[in-house]
Amino acid sequence: RGKKAFIAGVADDNGYGWAIAKALAAAGAEILVGTWVPALNIFETSLRRGKFDESRKLPDGSLMEIVKVYPLDAVYDCPEDVPEDVKTNKRYAGSSNWTVKEAAEAVKKDFGSIDILVHSLANGPEVTKPLLETSRSGYLAAMSASSYSFISLLQHFVPIMNPGGASISLTYIASERTIPGYGGGMSSAKAALESDTRVLAFEAGRKGKIRVNTISAGPLGSRAAKAIGFIEKMIEYSYVNAPLQKELLADEVGNAAAFLVSPLASAITGSTVYVDNGLNTMAVAI
Ligand code: NAD
Repeated sequence: RGKKAFIAGVADDNGYGWAIAKALAAAGAEILVGTWVPALNIFETSLRRGKFDESRKLPDGSLMEIVKVYPLDAVYDCPEDVPEDVKTNKRYAGSSNWTVKEAAEAVKKDFGSIDILVHSLANGPEVTKPLLETSRSGYLAAMSASSYSFISLLQHFVPIMNPGGASISLTYIASERTIPGYGGGMSSAKAALESDTRVLAFEAGRKGKIRVNTISAGPLGSRAAKAIGFIEKMIEYSYVNAPLQKELLADEVGNAAAFLVSPLASAITGSTVYVDNGLNTMAVAI
């Protein structure tokens, strides 16, 4: 039986979510994605028009099939949480059932259960502001979109996950060591995500035999990263200073994620796994 994977946070073919989807598809999984509501229209249109066909190519030459695209806004858990101005916003009004609870219900209705849950999303409205200048609401928004969203996804999806299933999220080393420029509470949000990975691994392990890990990924020029503004500098810094002096490919993170959610990693849970060309191990480079 092919495994089913729900990947939250895919809206183009540049990010880690897309690469993880491809690696899982190459390993034989059925791919369902959750796409941020404001990005849904352009993503579905681009898919339909074949704009991603080149990057849908799998190693065996076939094209990755996305079985279904679900609209999702992971900062809202249920319809009661959605403020009026969002409900009536024209980018949202055209879609329905996009809160986390409703998305899980929709997946359950369509497919019954899943095996793999991927969280590949983050948002921090004040990411370009230093932490010292971040507002309370900006900080809480970063935590809501980037950390609590993972708790919420697990809360609603664990009940429909088959025992032995696994989940994975993406984090960044700014959680542990200072990276000037990764502001707005995003460093705090990643620290929370890593800590939560340990606690959730215990709870989901005991509750449903579900594993929970996070990948601390090196820099990638994704859409989200470009919005931060310093990604080219980080990529260059990594190239110069990491043990492995090569470009970090999204596919390398995709492959590591596929390993971590597979039975090959059946004893790994609660871990933060670095996929960063080894950069995290360096103090001073020469
Ligand atoms: P990306 O732009 O491909 O992915 C981020 C996705 O989050 C987008 O598809 C966006 O639409 C979605 N999103 C934002 N707010 C959302 C919400 N409220 N509900 C649902 N979806 C929402 O960029 P990426 O860099 O591949 O990011 C994926 C993950 O990887 C993030 O957690 C990011 O922090 C992490 N990461 C990225 C890097 C990097 O250098 N790019 C490094 C380490 C970790």
